[in-house]
Amino acid sequence: MRAQPQASHYVGGSYLESQSGTPFDSLYPATGEVIAQIKAADDAVIDAAIASAQAGQKVWAATSPAERGRVLRRAAEILRAKNHELSVLETLDTGKPLQETLVADAASGADCLEYFGGLAATLTGEHIDLGGSFAYTKREPLGICFGIGAWNYPIQIACWKSAPALVCGNSMIFKPSEVTPLSALKLAEAFTEAGLPDGVFNVIQGFGDVGAKLVAHPAIAKVSLTGSVPTGAKVAALAGEHLKKTTLELGGKSPLIIFDDADVENAVSAAINANFYSTGQICSNGTRVFVQKGIKEAFLARLAERTGNAVLGDPLDETTSIGPLVSRQQFDKVMHYMQIGAREGARLVCGGGAATVESFPDGYFVQPTVFADVTDDMTIAREEIFGPVLSVLDFADEDEVVARANDTEFGLAAGVFTRDIQRAHRVIDGLQAGTCWINTYNLTPIEMPFGGYKKSGIGRENGHAAIEYYSQTKSVYVEMGGVEAAF
Ligand code: NAD
Repeated sequence: MRAQPQASHYVGGSYLESQSGTPFDSLYPATGEVIAQIKAADDAVIDAAIASAQAGQKVWAATSPAERGRVLRRAAEILRAKNHELSVLETLDTGKPLQETLVADAASGADCLEYFGGLAATLTGEHIDLGGSFAYTKREPLGICFGIGAWNYPIQIACWKSAPALVCGNSMIFKPSEVTPLSALKLAEAFTEAGLPDGVFNVIQGFGDVGAKLVAHPAIAKVSLTGSVPTGAKVAALAGEHLKKTTLELGGKSPLIIFDDADVENAVSAAINANFYSTGQICSNGTRVFVQKGIKEAFLARLAERTGNAVLGDPLDETTSIGPLVSRQQFDKVMHYMQIGAREGARLVCGGGAATVESFPDGYFVQPTVFADVTDDMTIAREEIFGPVLSVLDFADEDEVVARANDTEFGLAAGVFTRDIQRAHRVIDGLQAGTCWINTYNLTPIEMPFGGYKKSGIGRENGHAAIEYYSQTKSVYVEMGGVEAAF
């Protein structure tokens, strides 16, 4: 299987290869095969990307918002038309099953481009009456925005960052994760085909050092990272040193709280979606599942039974529901946490180790795993695992569970299941999390702002909220009378 792009980078509307950048491979996680060989950006590529983004931004900022919107909506249609091809590519690069990538990756990226494309012509400032004189505000672009992606939703993340940046008149340089370098290049192709001026969206490849060079570069106005908390801290520190605007979408250890009046079947579905979708590699996952004591055994029995129906297998077979983890490194990390869970005394309900999948002996497959009787102090209840490891914790009453749910440095997401409408809202009000669900989990429509409290992030993506983070307000006072002075 090969998915070699024409060249590693996409700058100024066409592919560009670096002469001296560090080479690295992109692997198909189901087999470990090399599907593409990429070279990290060297200084010449970085310089070319900056020059191209500067030139592109000038043209784009002078383009009417309505026309910007049309370009984004055309790009959305191109992604939709190519959805199958893009989904196969994303499956090869991430290992996520085609059953998922067909609906959740390029498709959700297209929704994002369409949404922000629709918003483009509606963005306005304010008129402020000062009694005779007045002021007005206008929204202006920031300049060149630098997007840094994680590997779990590569094309979706590239869309979530570029769409709001572009409608506001910015240009973008995007660096995908070195683990999944391929689909952002396809997004760049789609933008060019849709009529985006050259240089408005550029893709450069590389590891954290390339990211850091761009974060510190004086021509970059804003940095938006999706990644882990430790990387977020490094990027924030460097961006702070250079006083760059930042959006950080980081990790989590989110609570999913299930009261004993909940519909158990729906709650089990939500727990599955909150832990096993994308083989558990989702930042907002509800990995601490708090179940009220009255329904604990019924919940666990049904969860174990339904987890047994998961189909691990060939990611390109649409009947497969769980693919491999993205890399050997992630496989080792998840296996390590499974062992710690057992060692610290959690009760293994199902799974607990590597999975053997016929025809894929070298794939990074692990079993979807459920631990019960997990306590708040256990490592698996405190640290982000980023794999299919679900922890069930018992609770007795509402105040207790809210306090325990909040007892974490993270605050990305949270969910509550109950048929009591007042309790549902009361509990949500008490939870320290940026993105919450009542009687469902992990749905992130583009219309709804997404982001974290506490160490899970700074700023918001999606919805109208994202516009605030990709534009700046200019206030203009207009004097309609004379000007007085003291002397
Ligand atoms: P990571 O932090 O290892 O890497 C993220 C990106 O940052 C990569 O592109 C990497 O090359 C780059 N990077 C690394 N060091 C850098 C530095 N010093 N300067 C600039 N860039 C640097 O994360 P990952 O392993 O790719 O992704 C998994 C993590 O991402 C998890 O913690 C997950 O929760 C988080 N995540 C968050 C969201 C969200 O929206 N909140 C979404 C997806 C993933």
